[in-house]
Amino acid sequence: MHGVVVVGAAGRMGCRLVANLIASGELDLVGAVEFAGSPFIGQDAGLVAGCGECGVKISDSLEQILASGKAEAVIDFATGGVIEAAQMTVRANCAMVIGTTALSAGDRAELKRLADEENGRIVAANNMSVGVNLLFKLVKDAAAFLGIDYNVEIVEMHHNKKLDAPSGTAVRLGEVVCEARQWSYDQAVRNGRSGMVGRRPAEEIGMHALRGGDVVGDHTVIFSAEGERLELSHRASSRDMFARGALLAVEFLLGASAGLYDMQDVLKLK
Ligand code: NAD
Repeated sequence: MHGVVVVGAAGRMGCRLVANLIASGELDLVGAVEFAGSPFIGQDAGLVAGCGECGVKISDSLEQILASGKAEAVIDFATGGVIEAAQMTVRANCAMVIGTTALSAGDRAELKRLADEENGRIVAANNMSVGVNLLFKLVKDAAAFLGIDYNVEIVEMHHNKKLDAPSGTAVRLGEVVCEARQWSYDQAVRNGRSGMVGRRPAEEIGMHALRGGDVVGDHTVIFSAEGERLELSHRASSRDMFARGALLAVEFLLGASAGLYDMQDVLKLK
């Protein structure tokens, strides 16, 4: 059994990670972390996740858990402190899986530096689901094959508590289209439309973020031309498949050399 720590353990994703780790045969939950001052500190992580007592108390110190030597990997879906956690994890010679979205360019540069200069083994991916990662590949092929006559629009919908927009997955879908068509993301993407926007330029990707209710995550990429429309869609109905993807990423890193990887590497889709 390989010891794994969950950071952000009381969150929506953290709870599903805890539950899936407890149910896993290969990986063992050895630590759970929340921010200092969280009302969940000292509570049993399994009880907080709704899957029964597991004997792991939620702590505010990742450093102390890593110092115990029981962990081989950390999974972080926290909405804060991700880079500090990655630095601590790499320096403790543990693998790091990051699911948190909306990381800045500076954050990503620091992850790359940790991998290149401090031998970090890191998977960072805005979406850990197998289906979405296959969608990235299908969208890449469609964007290249269909050509510029096919206008691309991206529509995503998430629950009403989501903090960032458009979703990290929608951004990645936009990047995939831009890479396939050799466009600049910043120039091509138009977030929503309002007022007298004029005719749609061909080199544009309309990006639309819907919010409401308890939607886990829907993404559709629409390719429209004269006379036909192709829609590639993915709908997540449970957070468990993100959690299972994160566990696959841990297993991948346990046998990997230093590097900054994404789920396309984990799933061998490159
Ligand atoms: P959430 O708000 O329910 O949970 C976030 C948790 O992080 C909270 O419990 C919060 O207290 C904790 N936290 C914040 N700062 C912390 C710190 N410094 N140290 C420890 N814990 C801290 O959010 P969520 O819906 O679980 O989503 C979390 C993140 O995961 C978001 O960025 C979301 O977009 C992303 N996400 C990624 C995937 C994926 O597949 N990569 C899937 C779903 C969600």
